[in-house]
Amino acid sequence: MRLYNSLSREVEEVVSVESGRVKIYACGPTVYRYVHLGNLRTFLLTDLIRRALEYEGQDVFAVQNITDVGHMTDESSAEAVDKMLLAAEDEGLQPLEIAEKYTQEALDDMAAVGIHLPDLMPKATDHIPEMIELTERLIDRGHAYVADSGSVYYDVTSFPGYGKLSGNTLDKLKAGHRDLETDPAKRHPADFALWKVAGPGRLMKWPSPWGDGFPGWHVECSAMSMKYLGDRFDIHTGGNDLKFPHHEDEIAQSEGAVGHPVVSTWAHGGFLQLTGQKIAKSTGNVIRAPELIERGLDPLAFRWLTFQTRYRSEMDFTWEGMETADQRVRQLRRHVAEWGEPASELGPAAEEMEARFREALANDLDMPAVVLIVNDLDRSPHVPPGEKRALLAAWDRVLGLDLERDAREGWEPDAEVRRLVAERDEARAAKDYPRSDRLRDELQEMGLEVMDTSAGTRVRPRH
Ligand SMILES: [Zn+2]
Repeated sequence: MRLYNSLSREVEEVVSVESGRVKIYACGPTVYRYVHLGNLRTFLLTDLIRRALEYEGQDVFAVQNITDVGHMTDESSAEAVDKMLLAAEDEGLQPLEIAEKYTQEALDDMAAVGIHLPDLMPKATDHIPEMIELTERLIDRGHAYVADSGSVYYDVTSFPGYGKLSGNTLDKLKAGHRDLETDPAKRHPADFALWKVAGPGRLMKWPSPWGDGFPGWHVECSAMSMKYLGDRFDIHTGGNDLKFPHHEDEIAQSEGAVGHPVVSTWAHGGFLQLTGQKIAKSTGNVIRAPELIERGLDPLAFRWLTFQTRYRSEMDFTWEGMETADQRVRQLRRHVAEWGEPASELGPAAEEMEARFREALANDLDMPAVVLIVNDLDRSPHVPPGEKRALLAAWDRVLGLDLERDAREGWEPDAEVRRLVAERDEARAAKDYPRSDRLRDELQEMGLEVMDTSAGTRVRPRH
């Protein structure tokens, strides 16, 4: 598979450090607020990279962090209010309860759009010792200094490669940038905090060699990525907005600490734009996955919508586009059901489709090409229905659209299931609810979803 590497600015073959096993780190959600569709588009990039590599037969190990400390204040200002605390005050919850709530919401929203959760999702607050250790190492190696305030800063002038990812090299950076507030404690305006001294009233703080405080945001990703993936790993993903300063600073930290490159490929996803303010129900012009469901749209269709645009490009979200994607996904599911049993072997026309599909994925995840190939296959007079079904079932391991749903729901209950359903309907008619509940449990244990309808009990395989 070839991916665009933001660092080299070229499309390159992904060659894993460990043969056959690709290690990926993704910047995860900041959990004092909900994730929105723009965040989910970025997370989908990691999901797609993973699925495409697995389709090629590679093993993937993916880590995505949970930012529950560190990204909460303006890094450079000691007085800035912790956003986690603000959220906690607003909602009457403790900071850790806020983190827990929004972590669960983020996981639910990721699952709703069919994201395969990463193998590990470490929390920043569980890795304070690792961040302190990394900070100590950077001080020892001459890359960081303790300011008079007790806060520890990274000395950007100590790292000649600073700016290589974002292009924001020191000679181009000028004081006055929003991230470069002049601070008398800092030697250079671009120096960034590795450890901040806790101000008065701060709840989330930890002891350190420099007094009670809390880590900077960037240091968590260096500490956790290297802890779980080692000091050389393959792909680091994130949104375009994270290139600077977050990823630039991460490179300075990680490479400063180990003395060599750590990440082979930096993959960044483009923004999702919302056209028209009034489409947003919630404040701040933000749309969340549950809003799709409220409107009767299948959240998996959001995947199909994002496939229309190359992942690096900005993408416009419109409700019309989302509705069209929803209809198309439902139509594909119907077609899959109509095509009958999947063929066990592919003829030449189907093999050619398969080759095109693999090539499009390998070509820097060319999902707009994949969309065309799916449409071509759907319409093709040359590929027999059973082969179409077999191909789409396989491709769905990457597409993640649950294309077998209708085919599955056309499933017929066997005699045993029909007997249990009839018994349950009798029990309900006789208002024998304990027995009806027992029968429901029995059906559920058989892997079935049990629905109470006006026509009685209906069952179908759970998906
Ligand atoms: Zn990060």
